[in-house]
Amino acid sequence: MRDMQIHKNTSLKALNTFGVDGNAKYYCEIHTMEDIADLLDWKATNKAGENSPHLLVGGGSNLLFKNDYDGLVTKICLAGRDIADEDENHVYVTAAGGENWHDFVRWTVRQKYAGLENLSLIPGTVGAAPIQNIGAYGVELADSFYSLQAVDLGTGEVFEYQKSACKFTYRESIFKSQMLDKLLITSVTFALTKESKQPIWKTDYAGVREVLGGKELTAELISDVIIALRQSKLPDPEVIGNAGSFFKNPVLSLAEWQVLKADNSEVPGWEQANGDMKTSAAWLIDQCGFKGYKKGDAGVSEKHALVLVNYANATGADLWAVAQEIMASVKERFGVSLEAEPRVISC
Ligand SMILES: Cc1cc2nc3c(=O)[nH]c(=O)nc-3n(C[C@H](O)[C@H](O)[C@H](O)COP(=O)(O)OP(=O)(O)OC[C@H]3O[C@@H](n4cnc5c(N)ncnc54)[C@H](O)[C@@H]3O)c2cc1C
Repeated sequence: MRDMQIHKNTSLKALNTFGVDGNAKYYCEIHTMEDIADLLDWKATNKAGENSPHLLVGGGSNLLFKNDYDGLVTKICLAGRDIADEDENHVYVTAAGGENWHDFVRWTVRQKYAGLENLSLIPGTVGAAPIQNIGAYGVELADSFYSLQAVDLGTGEVFEYQKSACKFTYRESIFKSQMLDKLLITSVTFALTKESKQPIWKTDYAGVREVLGGKELTAELISDVIIALRQSKLPDPEVIGNAGSFFKNPVLSLAEWQVLKADNSEVPGWEQANGDMKTSAAWLIDQCGFKGYKKGDAGVSEKHALVLVNYANATGADLWAVAQEIMASVKERFGVSLEAEPRVISC
């Protein structure tokens, strides 16, 4: 008997942190590995399953639905955490793909495992975290990543990906490019450092450094500070719909950077390992006067120029129109192309 239900015509509103409404033609939830087998069965044996586009969602915090979704939306709700292994310095912790990322991070810091503390309060699920190699406050998921397990949505085969196979770079991975929509990530394993084994803390970040100065560091303390800092800077999606930073920080060649810097002496830049320069999308957008911008119900946060917000009942198309306006303005004034960080879904 099939437990997993395929529902018809489900609202998208609760499935994305922008809170934009729309309709998913089909919708289902994955709570167990058996549900995945049922899903693959439906896709293979049902005409609608064979022909429908298919989108996996976790917390919906890195998505913008431009309109209705004319296919199957599958929410990943797989739950569970486990200590998979341990050696003198590390614990290898596995969490299921549907676990809430922040709850998982808080659990690790309370166990005195270091590595994920700087990534506190990032919304979403564990399974989605490797997709764009989430990062914050000088740390990326890749820094503590050990391996993940994923099911091939075409064949049902289960694969294990070690770190080198994931091709992690800045907000990118193989799961966001070559393997996009081909795999369902069921669990992720992290190699975390035991707090007693002198982890390398990353606290040299404005706003973190000052608060922690002189204190004895623990993963939980750093996590507490990061949480407070993020709460002061970023709008809470529970209060006002958003998907965090809407644009990636542009990476420029040295020649492009020199042209930009010559005309804009204040522009911030960070040198990359290959000599390229990463600059601040927030600074560029702020200079174009978009902070607090509002067009109908769509706009830009008053707290942060990088965050697009749904002030009330904006549609995905309204938000995308504001994003395009910003991109055109930054391009015209600075000659820099901005790229959206969340996935823009049009189906
Ligand atoms: C307020 C706010 C702050 C944020 N801050 C940060 C930040 O500091 N750093 C950062 O990197 N990001 C940040 N984000 C973006 C977002 O939280 C992360 O990208 C997060 O990992 C997305 O998780 P999710 O479960 O919501 O993914 P979703 O938005 O549901 O999905 C994102 C992508 O992952 C795919 N996917 C989801 N689950 C699975 C799975 N189990 N298997 C395979 N594919 C899957 C989806 O198909 C989609 O392509 C922020 C967002 C918000 C709203």
